[in-house]
Amino acid sequence: MKVSILIPVFNEEENLALLAKELLQVVNGQPWQAELIFIDDGSTDRSPQILQELAQKEERCRVLTFSRNFGQTAAMQAGFEHATGEVVIPMDADLQNDPADIPRLLAKLEEGYDVVSGWRKVRQDKWLSRRFPSILANRLISWWTGVKLHDYGCTLKAYRSSVLKGTRLYGEMHRFIPVYATWRGARVVEMAVNHRPRRYGKSKYGLGRTFKVLLDMLTVKLLGSYSTKPIYLFGGLGVLFAFLGLLTFTGVALEKILIDQWPHKMTMLLFSTLLCTVGVLLIMMGLLAELMVRIYHEAQNKPIYLLQSDLHPTTPSPPSGPAQQEDNEVTQPELDPTPTAQSGQGG
Ligand code: UDP
Ligand code: MG
Repeated sequence: MKVSILIPVFNEEENLALLAKELLQVVNGQPWQAELIFIDDGSTDRSPQILQELAQKEERCRVLTFSRNFGQTAAMQAGFEHATGEVVIPMDADLQNDPADIPRLLAKLEEGYDVVSGWRKVRQDKWLSRRFPSILANRLISWWTGVKLHDYGCTLKAYRSSVLKGTRLYGEMHRFIPVYATWRGARVVEMAVNHRPRRYGKSKYGLGRTFKVLLDMLTVKLLGSYSTKPIYLFGGLGVLFAFLGLLTFTGVALEKILIDQWPHKMTMLLFSTLLCTVGVLLIMMGLLAELMVRIYHEAQNKPIYLLQSDLHPTTPSPPSGPAQQEDNEVTQPELDPTPTAQSGQGG
């Protein structure tokens, strides 16, 4: 069996050597073969050089380099497309995930699961800006998607590569793969993993990401449950609102008839009506735009990232995916300055 370990890297110079050492220690002497794919997501520090040296020294290391910062999700997407193992394990480059958990994840997978999702049970991040919003968001996602996990955001997960086939990730969506997988009938299980404080470098995220994740949650539901019947969502909400509108109208009419009261005194009511309407319409338009972005990228087989180099490829890229994309990569940037709809996710 071959295991592909994917590591998105954005300015992690102090962590890389340590991480590689820990990883190789874990990987050596295992009954399975390993491939370490580092995806350099446009780092501006010494990470690219360190990775280059690593790829030259260690034949199991492969380095994909992005032309700029496209975000962690794009990095993971690139990793999925280039991985050649039967099992794919993404993890963070900042040493917060523990490589020693990898054999445990694999053992769990062997028990007959398709996805083993890491759960940072004792999470070593700031409480107010990271852990607390994350707890709320995780609860909400569990309820909303019906897939009961405690920690969607943990990068360390193990997937059978068959589960990942055809996945196209946008926004912050890598965390929702277990949801998609469950909806498609995969067996998903959660496992507590070690989480360590970040010793070097800075976290690339703050509170803002929680909001992005919540919005992505809407998209996931639309695409997952309603992708073939959008009218159930749009129509359902439409009928609900029309019904509420009718109800309010009846109320107002009764007020006029019974106590001869016009609603002219409630100007704020108009504002709130307007704001709610605009809000709902914008969300709906956003969902439609999400669909269109997918058509835009997928109809042309346009990747959401741009590769600058691929050091030490182990096998030729599969014909349908990255190979064609590399054509795009060379020819399109001049014609089209916006090769991706999702630029830097760093905020
Ligand atoms: N990362 C990335 N591109 C980005 C931001 C982050 O590849 O635009 C990588 C980063 O180098 C790390 C992982 O994604 O390996 C997780 O990032 P971070 O540790 O900042 O997130 P946190 O653990 O704070 O949620
Ligand atoms: Mg981290």
